Amino acid sequence: MEIHLPIESFEFPVVIVGGIHGDEPAGNIAAKEFAGKKGVVVVSDVNPTGKRRFHGIDLNRHFGLKDSLPIEDMLLTKITELKPRTVIALHEDDTSDEVYAYCSLGLVNMVKTALKSLHAPLAKSAIGDRADEGVITQGHLPCRGTLEHQLRHRHIENCTIETPVKKHPVHERVELHKHMVSALLKHIYPFS
Ligand SMILES: [Zn+2]
Repeated sequence: MEIHLPIESFEFPVVIVGGIHGDEPAGNIAAKEFAGKKGVVVVSDVNPTGKRRFHGIDLNRHFGLKDSLPIEDMLLTKITELKPRTVIALHEDDTSDEVYAYCSLGLVNMVKTALKSLHAPLAKSAIGDRADEGVITQGHLPCRGTLEHQLRHRHIENCTIETPVKKHPVHERVELHKHMVSALLKHIYPFS
């Protein structure tokens, strides 16, 4: 796991997390592009194995649980210490043909606007949850054990972006993630 802090210290940063699943390269590559940017902390290569599971374990299913891994505890502790205004997690979905996002209720409008600006088809549903303009807020995911579930528990606003693996080659998925993060950052930091 790599943590890139901004050059100047910054209160209440945005934290961008990539590479929790090792077989989802686009989010990890895109996250690193924002390293060093003012007000942004980038966490990348959380699972550098190239496989979804880290030594057989899905890293996004044990956060805050009794059987959590040290790397999950470390990431959650670090994020909590940073007191972020928003956490943006970048993932990929090999079951969906469209882009979608999960987010906290307070971020819905911002995330919808950012998704719209992609000019890409947005998912109407994903993994059994209904998506409104590509956004899922009250679905069965994020379930217990996910980073998102722990962030919600800690009242930390968060947004998770999912790009479709089957429909776009990796460089296009990287661009989709970069566009989404840039659009969200523009909303969060309008004057920078
Ligand atoms: Zn993932």
